[in-house]
Amino acid sequence: MTKTRVAMVTGSARGIGAATARRLAQSGASVAVVDLNEDACQETVAAIHSAGGTAIAVGCDVSKANQVQDAVEKVVKDLGGIHILVNNAGVIRDNLLFKMSEEDWDMVMNVHLKGHFLCSRAVQKYMVEQKYGKIVNVSSTSALGNKGQANYSSAKAGIQGLTKTLAIELGQFNINVNAVAPGFVETDMTKATAERVGVNMEQFKEYAAKEIPLRRVGQPEDIANVVNFLASDEAGFVSGQVIYVAGGPKA
Ligand code: NAD
Repeated sequence: MTKTRVAMVTGSARGIGAATARRLAQSGASVAVVDLNEDACQETVAAIHSAGGTAIAVGCDVSKANQVQDAVEKVVKDLGGIHILVNNAGVIRDNLLFKMSEEDWDMVMNVHLKGHFLCSRAVQKYMVEQKYGKIVNVSSTSALGNKGQANYSSAKAGIQGLTKTLAIELGQFNINVNAVAPGFVETDMTKATAERVGVNMEQFKEYAAKEIPLRRVGQPEDIANVVNFLASDEAGFVSGQVIYVAGGPKA
């Protein structure tokens, strides 16, 4: 691809999504910063602008089909196309099974698994027509099982199945579909977990790092760099893969 690529990164107001939006912009993509609230996207958009890149803010709840459709249409209209989708938006509602409410199950499944489905379905039309596309999904080491995360680990394991299936269906249209599966990454999400279990963040990171072969927790940029590679033409023959980015074989 010689012309400027357009990337849409969901949940990019902060954390891993924000770092990914900045990294893709650094690689030359025009970026749609998508999050629940358009105002919350402004910080990421401003960071991309001040580094000389192109970005717009788009408010969208990825679990709502009509909002996803409108968001994708806006991206295509305002930025001139869609070539890269990073499905990153996420929430946690952790609890042990016997305490997990139906609402918390539905919320996590809807934002993660349904959100990945809705966004992928909305962009595929454009990607199929142009015979070019890169979809990068965000799974987690929790897909392998994690206490207190029946909802989240199921959604993240489902995302791995979705990734492989879409790679099979869309490969013939020159669309690559891959996933990253981060381990512990220092963001507001892990800060919220530390608060919930009543440990301060520095201690929480220290405990986590002891179990990680590289002896440190991840930073959002660690994930963004791998997403950037999977979204690039250098990864043109990689599809249907799940890359664990966890400082070791698994966290
Ligand atoms: P974060 O909470 O810092 O950021 C998540 C972003 O998603 C927020 O800006 C939030 O507003 C947005 N979001 C939530 N629901 C949304 C919705 N319905 N529609 C649109 N946007 C929505 O979290 P993070 O740590 O940066 O996580 C990013 C992704 O990485 C998530 O999918 C998460 O599950 C995954 N992940 C994180 C870790 C970690 O250790 N932080 C590990 C593995 C996987």
